[in-house]
Amino acid sequence: MDYAATLLSKLPGTSPRRSRDIKALVETLESYMPAELIERVMKAYEFGAIAHEGQTRKSGEPYISHPVAVAQTLADMHLDSQTIVAAILHDVVEDTDVPIAELEDQFGTEVATLVDAVSKLDQMHFTNRAEAHAESFRKMMLAMIEDIRVILVKLADRMHNMETLGAMPREKQARIARETLEIYAPIANRLGINHMKVALEDLGFRYLYPYRYAVLQRALKKSKGSQRQIVKRISESILKAMEEEGITGEVRGREKHLYSIYRKMAGKKRILNDVVDVYGFRIIVDDVNTCYRVLGIVHGLYKPMPGRFKDYIAIPRVNGYQSLHTTLFGPKGLPLEAQIRTTDMDRVAESGVAAHWQYKAIDKSTATPQRRARDWLARLEEIQRTGTSEEFLESVKVDLFPDKIYVFTPKGDIMPMPKGATIVDFAYAVHTDVGNRCVAGKVDRTLVPLRTVLKNSQTVEIVTARGAKPNPNWVSFVATAKARSAIRQYMKNMRTTESVDLGKRLLDRSLKDLGSSLRKIGKVRLREALDELDLVGATDLYAQLGLGERLAPLTARFLIGEKGEQTEPKSASLVIAGTEGMVVSYAKCCYPIPGDEVMGYLSAGRGVVIHRNSCGNLINFRKQPEKWLSVGWEEDIDRDFSSQIQVETVNKTGVLAEVAAVIADSQSNIEEVSVNIRHQDTSAMTFLLQVKDRTHLAHIMRNVRKMQNVKSVSRDSA
Ligand code: MN
Repeated sequence: MDYAATLLSKLPGTSPRRSRDIKALVETLESYMPAELIERVMKAYEFGAIAHEGQTRKSGEPYISHPVAVAQTLADMHLDSQTIVAAILHDVVEDTDVPIAELEDQFGTEVATLVDAVSKLDQMHFTNRAEAHAESFRKMMLAMIEDIRVILVKLADRMHNMETLGAMPREKQARIARETLEIYAPIANRLGINHMKVALEDLGFRYLYPYRYAVLQRALKKSKGSQRQIVKRISESILKAMEEEGITGEVRGREKHLYSIYRKMAGKKRILNDVVDVYGFRIIVDDVNTCYRVLGIVHGLYKPMPGRFKDYIAIPRVNGYQSLHTTLFGPKGLPLEAQIRTTDMDRVAESGVAAHWQYKAIDKSTATPQRRARDWLARLEEIQRTGTSEEFLESVKVDLFPDKIYVFTPKGDIMPMPKGATIVDFAYAVHTDVGNRCVAGKVDRTLVPLRTVLKNSQTVEIVTARGAKPNPNWVSFVATAKARSAIRQYMKNMRTTESVDLGKRLLDRSLKDLGSSLRKIGKVRLREALDELDLVGATDLYAQLGLGERLAPLTARFLIGEKGEQTEPKSASLVIAGTEGMVVSYAKCCYPIPGDEVMGYLSAGRGVVIHRNSCGNLINFRKQPEKWLSVGWEEDIDRDFSSQIQVETVNKTGVLAEVAAVIADSQSNIEEVSVNIRHQDTSAMTFLLQVKDRTHLAHIMRNVRKMQNVKSVSRDSA
């Protein structure tokens, strides 16, 4: 069946060149794919040709020739029909006005997802030259990909763009060639797709260093004529020796890959002839056993070079490559490099991970793309078991199944972040000061809250404000150790400042009780006292007082020089304004609020804890009077305090909501509710509320008490 001819006849402006390309593609597909799938590919071709109609490549060819060439590369690798269809359509969304939804309608979700992912990769451009940057760029690309076929299409796309790079201006050639060598060839290598790696490297080399490439190529050509003869002769003698042993197989002369020759020369500082005059052979046989037998045969034919034998069958390379390598002294002492492997190993060596997406008639492929990539890795792991490169394998794994995401700074630098990282993590990753002062973030120029979790390839910007402070709650959602420890450190420092303030106030007050003051005591006595207490400075003393590690009345008497009996602190009390920060806290047993009669308990390390006088915990007051201080409230405190009430209601559905509504109407927020059903007909609800003061609380309680289903309201003073 000639699909190409039928379809082409329907298309406008069909050129002979175009029909040749598509004919070759169909021929390749016919060698491994059933007709109904090829029909899908042809439908994609028709769709793509119409979408790209009128567009041309830089070379002047109709644009559709490019996606067809990309599809051809992938068809040569026998990839499945989805990949081929996606390859033909890969530039449709990017370069024409066909929406992705249209592709989904016509070709299904799988193809649409592949095309969409390829288009997203196209939008990323590698600019920076730094090696570390190239590494993270590669990782970012792999991290963005959920389906390896996306990168296969991208690599084939890059191969064709490199093949047609001659039509581009010189400057662009160099940029694209560098990107190919630094990004795409290493990815192909990582995935074990050798022929793509070799093609990308040679093309990249050719356009990045045109002069060096030309020199090498000329030198190689010169030696080639005689080389062919020698290679032919040696091949024949190897084949003959194999036949004598009853072994069937294939012997191929191997052409050197220019970029590898260049790298050998540059790396090992060797002269051209040393590198070029090496003859390469590949011997392909049926099974592993035969590989070792053939090794024996070639070692019998030519003397092996000591120290050059490598058994990559027993210990494969990390990307799954397996082969026996040996170097021999050939005729006239010429070095011969031989690679011996099985057909299977040869296939893996050439296509790596791609082998797992090759079309197979039987398997209807229920496996997800991730599953298949994992299968490939599992296979690698299995053959690696004897190997020593676990660490490297680990890094392949991390690249394919990353635990990191990659985001951009506004300047375009790439920042790796752990999965789950938030705006706050990013801010601290930029700088501790940025983290400490951040108030919001912008993701792709849209304002977002600080706890927003970042996603791959977003551009993240931090909004800071002068005087902004970290919030202790951030610790509950940050994902990085750096952010966590920076927030804790800041809190610790802040606590110190606050406790120094409070400690100074406590000491002032106690001194006043004794008719003295810091000024009256004087610097000399203070220094003397600090030395006696083994403290470096007054700040340390205040901090200890503020944190309750030392008692103010005793310290006051000590400063005055009065030793002797301890008297109860009297009169003037410490005034609480509610703004003391972390060194003054409000007891959770009795929830004191402004207007309540209260006492302060100096709790070592925590500062002053305020209790209501009616609180049961005040019994301690008698046991350790020196730890309790009288405190009072500042007038007009403008903040909310937590308070608790108990409401007893009729046990009916909807009562809780009614009570909650009344509380909300009384300008209070509910922090927590718990309900206990005591009897069949009564419920006891406990509300934790935010109130301004006693008056506010009384107002709320009055409103609740008036409710029809409410039996009683009381304030907890447990
Ligand atoms: Mn393309």
